[in-house]
Amino acid sequence: MELKPNQVRLMMLQVADAIIVAEPMLSQADRDLGDGDHGLGMKRGMEAVKAQLEPMEPASVEQVFVATGTAMMTSMGGASGALFGTVYRAGGKAVTGREVLDAEGLALFLQAALEGVMKRGGAKPGDKTMIDALAPAADKAKEVSGQPLVEALTAVAAAAEAGKEASKAMIAQFGRAKTLGEACIGFPDAGALSVTIMLQTMLAFVKA
Ligand code: ADP
Ligand code: MG
Ligand code: MG
Repeated sequence: MELKPNQVRLMMLQVADAIIVAEPMLSQADRDLGDGDHGLGMKRGMEAVKAQLEPMEPASVEQVFVATGTAMMTSMGGASGALFGTVYRAGGKAVTGREVLDAEGLALFLQAALEGVMKRGGAKPGDKTMIDALAPAADKAKEVSGQPLVEALTAVAAAAEAGKEASKAMIAQFGRAKTLGEACIGFPDAGALSVTIMLQTMLAFVKA
């Protein structure tokens, strides 16, 4: 199973709706560790994504992802707008020329997204950021890139979820959470939660 550009567009519209619905949960997660604005920032980003994707007749998979990233980057502002924008823009560029999204494309997307975020934000695995969901997801995607997309996404979404759970035990090295020191233990990173919801929603789309 593989997704044509228009199916990728529909999948990303579903991701946008899932993040909008999760706004209270994402806001609470960022309230526990940060300044509490992550849910509203993501919601604003996803409304901009919907405005771009709803009328689009995409010619490529890349176009859908790059438009998603650009909409997030320009509407959210701040560090996480640039970082989530990078996830989709760098990930999208990594699937240039591919007619469909399959497990191999997913692996290329996630690897480039991870590298882009690490380069842009300077964080690494273990710093209690979105990277703690993204890195295990990208590693798993590489491992299962020969499998059908639904199986690959099942494994990748589970890896992101496990990474998000593991972020609870980490001490933050970035953002406002850094000032909390050991007090941030027990709470998952908000950005890692967003990454997990996105991948779980992609899985739900390909399963449906
Ligand atoms: P802000 O921190 O500007 O209020 P958000 O609340 O929207 O922005 O996003 C916070 C999330 O951004 C964190 O939970 C973390 O996942 C992610 N983040 C912050 N800084 C970095 C970084 N340098 N690298 C990767 N992710 C980061
Ligand atoms: Mg915040
Ligand atoms: Mg903020």
